[in-house]
Amino acid sequence: MIGPKCKICRRLGVKLFLKGERCFGQKCEIIKRNYPPGIRSKKRGGKISEYGKGLMEKQKAKNWYNLSESQFASYVNNILSGGSKDSNLSTGDQLMRILESRFDNVVFRLGFAASHSEARQMVNHGHFTVNGKKVDIPSYELIEGDEIEVKKESREMPKFQELKKTLKGFTAPLWLTLDKDNLKGKVVKLPTAEEANIPIETSLIFEFYSK
Ligand code: SF4
Repeated sequence: MIGPKCKICRRLGVKLFLKGERCFGQKCEIIKRNYPPGIRSKKRGGKISEYGKGLMEKQKAKNWYNLSESQFASYVNNILSGGSKDSNLSTGDQLMRILESRFDNVVFRLGFAASHSEARQMVNHGHFTVNGKKVDIPSYELIEGDEIEVKKESREMPKFQELKKTLKGFTAPLWLTLDKDNLKGKVVKLPTAEEANIPIETSLIFEFYSK
């Protein structure tokens, strides 16, 4: 049985890491059956229209970051209307900056959660502090220099004790630092689209929303 999350990956033809541990092993459905669900052929469909390509990239990004349609559209539309505080950057860099700086994403990127949905749940449950203060808002926008830490009370929980072992083989992206023993991390700098290294063509997303 594969869950609907794996079907999203198969439909879009890309690993979106929606199911935690399973995504990192050989049981990943993209490794086993990299073709859209519901068809017998193992080939992907024919030529995709420009609209279809834009739609696909939008779906990839929205699902990768586990965002609702309206949350994702509001980020893109804000950039298109020149309302982003990073309007001096390219639109792709602006989008990646805002998405990567979300608190739930940074928790995922630090390896504290196995998926974006788990990261969101952990943030909602108030397990983390930012610069020493409890923050339980997944969309909270982190800035350079912010320090993220598992709350003292939470650190003793079996889940977080186990996490220390899991993190042994984990490498955080270069724009973050990670103190595995103390379950702490820091945003050294916010990434460019290239540094975020997500398999998404941001230009197609902006074309899609500009129409
Ligand atoms: Fe399923 Fe994860 Fe593989 Fe996607 S990446 S197909 S969610 S196991």
